[in-house]
Amino acid sequence: MKVAIYPGSFDPVTNGHIDIISRAATLFDKVIVAVIRNPDKTPKFSLDDRVDMLKASLKKDRNVVVDSFDGLLVDYAKKKKANIIVRGLRAVSDFDYEFQMALTNRKMAPNIETIFFMTDYKYSYLSSSFVKQIAHFGGDVSELVPPAICQKLKIKI
Ligand code: ADP
Repeated sequence: MKVAIYPGSFDPVTNGHIDIISRAATLFDKVIVAVIRNPDKTPKFSLDDRVDMLKASLKKDRNVVVDSFDGLLVDYAKKKKANIIVRGLRAVSDFDYEFQMALTNRKMAPNIETIFFMTDYKYSYLSSSFVKQIAHFGGDVSELVPPAICQKLKIKI
């Protein structure tokens, strides 16, 4: 059974994330979308909100589950018996960080492989921070995030 973990802040989930999740779900038996409680970042949405927003956006995918975790990703992956980490790549600017993280995780857990999905061109510019900025200034984010998230953003920001 091929179990993959897609970790991220998802603050909030965007259509770019959804695209990666849908594509990963066609390749792996199970995809665990794992929301990070990252002590270095101050998210706009609470961990519970981020998990709920993902669940509301992913109702139809039967082999996708949403979870959250604390601590090292490789420890969480071992606990879940997953040996694949999924990440997305947009521009070159993502590369340095993703490269460093993939190699660090490989050093700690050589049996866990990180697999990168290239963004769809439609979402190559799209990030959670961009969505929050647009929402903050009253812009329309309906084409950038799932419908359930639009409403949440209006209330929160
Ligand atoms: P993190 O704080 O871990 O970077 P994010 O929620 O910002 O969490 O992103 C999670 C993963 O999804 C990262 O690998 C990121 O590069 C990828 N990602 C984010 N937005 C997009 C997008 N529009 N297209 C493809 N991948 C994306």
